[in-house]
Amino acid sequence: MKAHEYQARALLAEAGVPVPSSDVVDTVDEAVAAYGRIDGKVVVKAQVFAGGRGKAGFVKLCDSADAVRDAAQFMLGNRMVSPQTGPAGIAVKKLLIAAAVDIESEYYVAVVLDRAKRKPVVMVSREGGVEIEEVARTNPGAIVKRWLHPHLGLIDFQCAKLASALGFTDKGQLEAAQKVIRGLVKVFNDYDCSLAEINPLVRTPDGEILAIDAKMNFDDNALFRHKRLQEMFDPTEENPMELRAKEHDLSYIALDGNIGCLVNGAGLAMSTMDIIKLHGGEPANFLDVGGSVTAEGAIEAFRIILSDDKVKGVLVNIFGGIAKCDTIAEALIAAAKEIGFKIPVVVRLEGTNVERARELLEAAAIPQLVPASDLTDAAEKVCKEVA
Ligand code: GDP
Ligand code: MN
Repeated sequence: MKAHEYQARALLAEAGVPVPSSDVVDTVDEAVAAYGRIDGKVVVKAQVFAGGRGKAGFVKLCDSADAVRDAAQFMLGNRMVSPQTGPAGIAVKKLLIAAAVDIESEYYVAVVLDRAKRKPVVMVSREGGVEIEEVARTNPGAIVKRWLHPHLGLIDFQCAKLASALGFTDKGQLEAAQKVIRGLVKVFNDYDCSLAEINPLVRTPDGEILAIDAKMNFDDNALFRHKRLQEMFDPTEENPMELRAKEHDLSYIALDGNIGCLVNGAGLAMSTMDIIKLHGGEPANFLDVGGSVTAEGAIEAFRIILSDDKVKGVLVNIFGGIAKCDTIAEALIAAAKEIGFKIPVVVRLEGTNVERARELLEAAAIPQLVPASDLTDAAEKVCKEVA
């Protein structure tokens, strides 16, 4: 799960990180009213789950009610396109109206889970504000890292080192930077984040240290123990098909290719995608129906996969262990009747009740169904069908 900037700012503020005052609104009039409540300049910011807003024109400094009105109208009326959104862009439904700050310098501070080292890593850079991926690629030395011991967490000397790596020499500013780093680590730990990032952290000409943008991702498997995060969940920003799958206890991941994959088990999903790629195809998604799939679940899975126009062929790859092959076969037949297959569906079934499944499929005589003898055969056939 991701948080919006305004939500991330709230969590940071509670952890003691200084954040400028702000309001979140969803209409142009409310945006103008929010401007009236803030003293001085404001920054109007689209609240969407994608970065690169500044360059896309969706972060605007405004010093009058008219400027706020124009900015709000533009952002709520246009889809935002940035390198992180894809060409279709995303609709903006909420705006943050924040007190603007004068910036002397911009910094980057983040905590992410380092999966290779199996520890959180705190990363800081003096080159904040711009895309950090670019800095990592062209000037990796400009990012200073410290790994956190899983039990000891952030140790004082690490925190001091990170703050001085940001280039602060003034005692007050060093302490302020340490407070920010500690606060960010606290949020990361308290809320089971996989990422907690401030970009940029800024120093004002008065020497104040403030977080003016934040991004957070949370571990979905830990959401059950964070009521606060559950309340923050914004379904309108999620991929609708992934949401629909979740409602039916299916795991659906959207990808870029044109072959839909219906499988049971994450491991089988991975090998199915590998073998499709090996034969020159590209998966459009994978839908994992899980071990204990029901006929209804499997039919819903077909509905989800077939509702995606990108999908030009489907590979059904089921190993009948707990899930029985005849259940899947029945679901296939029911789905064919209900939805009507307009594209080829290659089927590879193996395991419990496979004989019965084959009989059912043969008797149903669905013209779009292409039986496959094994996984290689299935991959070859589906790649040929969509070529
Ligand atoms: P992002 O592009 O989606 O990461 O959005 P940010 O919130 O990080 O804003 C992008 C850039 O806009 C920042 O790096 C700043 O340079 C600028 N910016 C954002 N807020 C303010 C502000 O309050 N004052 C000033 N002067 N610039 C700002
Ligand atoms: Mn930013």
